[in-house]
Parts: sequence; structure tokens; C-alpha cells
Amino acid sequence: GYFGGIGGASRKGILVKGSNYLDALTKVKTVVFDKTGTLTKGEFKVSEIVSANGFSNEDILKYAAYAEANSNHPIAKSILETYNNKIQQSEISEVKEISGHGIQAKINGDEVLIGNDRFLHMENIVHDKCDIEGTVVHVVVNKKYAGYIVISDSLKDEAAEAIAELNKLKVNTVMLTGDNKSAAEVYAKKLGIREYYAELLPENKVEHIEKLLSAAHDGKVAFVGDGINDAPVIARADVGIAMGALGSDAAVETADVVLMTDSPMQVVHSIEVAKRTRTIVW
Ligand code: ADP
Ligand code: MG
Repeated sequence: GYFGGIGGASRKGILVKGSNYLDALTKVKTVVFDKTGTLTKGEFKVSEIVSANGFSNEDILKYAAYAEANSNHPIAKSILETYNNKIQQSEISEVKEISGHGIQAKINGDEVLIGNDRFLHMENIVHDKCDIEGTVVHVVVNKKYAGYIVISDSLKDEAAEAIAELNKLKVNTVMLTGDNKSAAEVYAKKLGIREYYAELLPENKVEHIEKLLSAAHDGKVAFVGDGINDAPVIARADVGIAMGALGSDAAVETADVVLMTDSPMQVVHSIEVAKRTRTIVW
């Protein structure tokens, strides 16, 4: 029975790590999604560069590309694609990547800091608040505000359908993200997700899961994520789901359910397969 259920799921590219998780899937009342790489493609594109204080757009892009040169973050990839010039690694030193904030580095003797509002605030850098539909990456050179780069991601094709299907199954949907509030709002609206929380650090995501767990009573809470930062959140949920195709090893190892493709519809299929299995067994 259950064994067959797990086998049936695996034929659909859904790996369930034990019959207790198959059972938990049938009782899921809330599905919490991480935004980047889970509901969105995680493929950012630079859409705008705005310079300030005598810096040029070229300066900003170069500083940002050098700072991001050795980062694996999707933001780094987009900036390096747009820069499209050779990076002299010898000009880069003292790189420090701060999770949920940005990067600090020394570039050709200049002290460069790039990242979000929170990061600038933490470093006491004053800048104009910009309310933009996208992810804003600020650039600071020798403590002077140099400008920002706007990058935007796009929704996965089946993301809205997955949310609609979950709501049809009477499952609540929640979105969590480290991204800014205006970017989060745009995606939540397009997806029809009413409950979402932005500007979260990985530890804040765990806190939100804990709140949702205590609100769910006898229902189960699932979390779907992909990144290295998500492993503690995946671990805390009743059913931790990793998008395995793109996911980090840590996330895949921690997860209770691993999805072999990156479609959010696989979350719906997991619940459906689990429910069908229960019908057959009981
Ligand atoms: P998410 O929760 O959407 O997966 P992350 O936790 O990876 O996002 O990052 C949250 C925010 O931290 C990003 O939206 C960005 O503002 C900032 N950030 C993190 N890493 C970097 C980086 N390498 N360069 C610039 N900004 C970064
Ligand atoms: Mg993430």
C-alpha cells in the first residue's frame, strides 16, 4: 500500500522519504513557498541602472560585477551577464558575502559594498528610498552612495496554476522572501497569494514557519524551497519539500520530499498522489 504510494510518486518525479511523510502530505493545510527559484525562475535580468554622486552607470556596473565575481547568488549571475567584460581577479580582495544582505569587497583599493536597504542601513549609509518594482542592488564606494541596479526575475510558467489548484484543495498558500516588499507584492498579486512576508533573513523564515505551525492546529504545514539558506526552514516544517533539480545538496538532504523537476505543480501532484494512496490503502 504505502510502498506502492511512494513508488507511484517516484514515477512522477516525486521522492517521498518515508510513509509518515506520505501521510503528512494528505493532511497539509498550509503550503509555504520561498519566492526566489521556487515560484520565480531565479533568473534575474538587469533592467535599469541609476547613478548618483558623480559616478557613471559604467562605474556602478563594474564595481558590482567585481564584487559579485565569485558569488553563486542568482543576482550575481545577472550582473555578470550584463557586465560582459573580463574580470581581473587580481583587483579583487577581502570579499565577504553576507547572507540576506549583499557583498563587501576591496576592488582596486576601493572599499565597495553592494546589496539591499537593510545592508546599507546596517552600515549607516544614507540614500534615497526607491520604491521600484524589482530587486534593487545598491552600490556604495568608499562609504559614498554611488547608485543602484534594478534587476527583475520572472514567474515560473505553472506558478499561478499551482496556487489556484492548492486553493481549490482548500490549502492555504503563503509566500516568504528575503527580497524587498514592493517586489514581493508584485509577485503575490500576480499569483493570487494574499499572505506573504518580505525582507526576511533565513532565521525569520523559520520564525514564520513556527507561527504557522501553531496556527495550523491538527493540519500540517509544508515548506517548499531550493536554496542553501532554506535548509533550516525545510527542516522545521512538518513536510519540508526541496526542488531537487536546482536545489542545493543541503536542501535535498534535509527535505522530507524531493521534487525532481522545478515546476510548482509538482507540489499539487505530491498531495494528490498521497491522497490517492490513502484511498487505496484504507
Ligand atoms: P530569497 O529569500 O528571495 O531567496 P535571499 O535570502 O537569497 O533571497 O536574499 C535576500 C536579499 O538579500 C536579496 O533580495 C538581495 O537584496 C540581498 N542579497 C543576497 N545576496 C546578495 C548578493 N550576492 N548580491 C546582492 N544582494 C544580495
Ligand atoms: Mg532563496
